[in-house]
Amino acid sequence: MNIPEIFAENVFNEKAMKAALSPDVYRSLKKAVNENEPLDFAVAQEVADAMKAWAISKGATHYTHWFQPMTGITAEKHDSFISPAKNGNVIMEFSGKALIKGEPDASSFPNGGIRATFEARGYTAWDPSSYAFIKDNTLCIPTAFCSFSGEALDKKTPLIRSIEAISKQSVKVLKLLGKDDVNKVHVTVGAEQEYFLIDREAGLMREDIVYSGRTLFGANPPKGQELGDHYFGAIKPRVKAYMEDLNEELWKLGILAKTEHNEVAPGQHELAPVFTHANTATDHNQLTMELMKKIAEKHGLTCLLAEKPFKGVNGSGKHNNWSLTTDTGVNLFDPGETPAENLQFLVFLSAVIKATDVYQDLLRASVASAGNDHRLGAHEAPPAIVSIFLGDDLLNALEAFVNNYSYHSKKTTMKLGAKILPPLPKDATDRNRTSPMAFTGNKFEFRMVGSNDSIADCNVVLNTIVAESLEEFACVLENASNVSSAVHDIVKNTLDNHGRIIFNGNNYSAEWVVEAERRGLSNLKTTPDAVSSYTTDKAIELFAKHKVLSKTELFAIENVMLENYSRIVKIEALTMVDMARKNIYPSINRYASRVLEGAINKYKLGISNETDVYLARKLSGLSDVVYKKAEALADLIVKANAFTGNSKALAHFVKDQIIPCMEALRVSADEAETVTDERFWPFPSYGKLLFSVK
Ligand code: ADP
Ligand code: MG
Repeated sequence: MNIPEIFAENVFNEKAMKAALSPDVYRSLKKAVNENEPLDFAVAQEVADAMKAWAISKGATHYTHWFQPMTGITAEKHDSFISPAKNGNVIMEFSGKALIKGEPDASSFPNGGIRATFEARGYTAWDPSSYAFIKDNTLCIPTAFCSFSGEALDKKTPLIRSIEAISKQSVKVLKLLGKDDVNKVHVTVGAEQEYFLIDREAGLMREDIVYSGRTLFGANPPKGQELGDHYFGAIKPRVKAYMEDLNEELWKLGILAKTEHNEVAPGQHELAPVFTHANTATDHNQLTMELMKKIAEKHGLTCLLAEKPFKGVNGSGKHNNWSLTTDTGVNLFDPGETPAENLQFLVFLSAVIKATDVYQDLLRASVASAGNDHRLGAHEAPPAIVSIFLGDDLLNALEAFVNNYSYHSKKTTMKLGAKILPPLPKDATDRNRTSPMAFTGNKFEFRMVGSNDSIADCNVVLNTIVAESLEEFACVLENASNVSSAVHDIVKNTLDNHGRIIFNGNNYSAEWVVEAERRGLSNLKTTPDAVSSYTTDKAIELFAKHKVLSKTELFAIENVMLENYSRIVKIEALTMVDMARKNIYPSINRYASRVLEGAINKYKLGISNETDVYLARKLSGLSDVVYKKAEALADLIVKANAFTGNSKALAHFVKDQIIPCMEALRVSADEAETVTDERFWPFPSYGKLLFSVK
């Protein structure tokens, strides 16, 4: 495989555009993108023609507006290029209008109450800042999706707005710091993606995997991740073949898949791309998730993206690496050799610290989902408490700066003891892997995102809250007579008023939960509690001020998140009832009968049957409990129907009643699994799933 040759071969990128468009049209398109201007119609027509010719030359027969509705998945509606012509012939047609605007029937996508039912249409609008690409013989045009009245019904629209907001405030601050040459600031994002692979056949034998993408029952195997031998262990041949195939498909789509390795849990892996602009990174992450699942099937595997596919085994997340880079190529979070003398770095760093403290609830809300609730705070992922890790070295440098003394970084080289091994530059502080928001050298790594989530939401929040701090700092700088002393005040005020958000210790520890409470940090453990952060007066004011989300849109987001949450848990609960009634109860009973038969035979022969009788009793007791709990759960699901139309009340009912009942049912079923002959157990065990791929 010639990687440079296949790389981005299915993307209508700069190279393809330059080759296909006339210089004038190319310039107009670039200008529109760079200056965030809408595109001239005549230009759009030429772009459409060129795009069509390019796509057809690559075998495409259809086109689709590709968009990201509020559910967090992607949606497509395919149309063929075919158009009837004279004499029963057809021509291949694609107009500028079809490129710029689409009108999919939006009634099947959630809108959180924005769209009245009589206006079922939604509109998709081409996003020229993100490249079109070919997937499955279809030209996919990345688009924003909105209602008739212009409200966002998707994740891309607010993301683009937030990118504009932070760029505007960053440029303003930079000008005040004397950096006049910067006209635009880009948000850069690299999303590391964790996932599990299991054998497809084994997965298909379990209803929970089929319906909810994760296990809802399952006793722990004798061996889990205790030995840590999976992490960085050799990649198994079947997995290797899968990764190679996946990389190739990703590369063709211009996705810079770079690092791949095993993760902590058996069957768990990670893929990291090279970072790129936030909008593109979001598109790429969606495509990566889609391809991960699709290619797994080809290899007889199933890719699980659920945050917590197995109880008691590490869950999967996404690390959203986030930074800001000027159009002149400077990373604004690069501290340089002497961070305390780098005014620009100090201002931008302070902006993130302040924003994270003031809007911690919004960051938490941005990663809220039914799946992620199982992961956050499970002593393996950052807790639901938001904090920032800076490392002792940087924190010392900041404190020295504020208190006017000098501090020399402890950056040293690490000697490996053998002459032949080169000395490695040693980070002054080891990386903290437990922090939800870690400063990692020249970027922030936001680690609370669930593996199944779109990264759009957290980036919308990050961009907007940091834009807000920057705007406030711009005011301070504007009114200052001396820039250095103004920066000094900014850093000092940030540490004095928002220093509580900085925590360099172990975020997984129980002590941190107590300490965070003492500091007054919020700890929103569940989705129903977290998502109301989107609709506080503070949030409404913030998002309106930066023109990222209107009040209506915020309520819609809250509503959709609550609906999603309840819907997912309800499907899981129904699946559990079904499995308990149709698989688990009958299986325990069958085994109990077999044991009893043995007991009777032994009795007839005068052999001791004490153990059999004991076991049969135990099994029978457990199956009774399983059945009763399944009935109780079924009743609760019926009761939940009474909340139709009140998404908040329903989500709280789900959280307070249904989830505890699911957990109770699971405890009894899992206990039964540990005492049931495995030949009688109705589906593959954890051990079989986790170690199913060789
Ligand atoms: P790890 O977190 O596993 O130690 P790295 O720190 O090497 O891995 O990188 C993690 C991710 O951060 C990669 O996707 C990388 O492209 C991304 N990244 C690196 N620099 C930046 C940046 N300036 N902006 C955004 N993401 C970045
Ligand atoms: Mg990481």
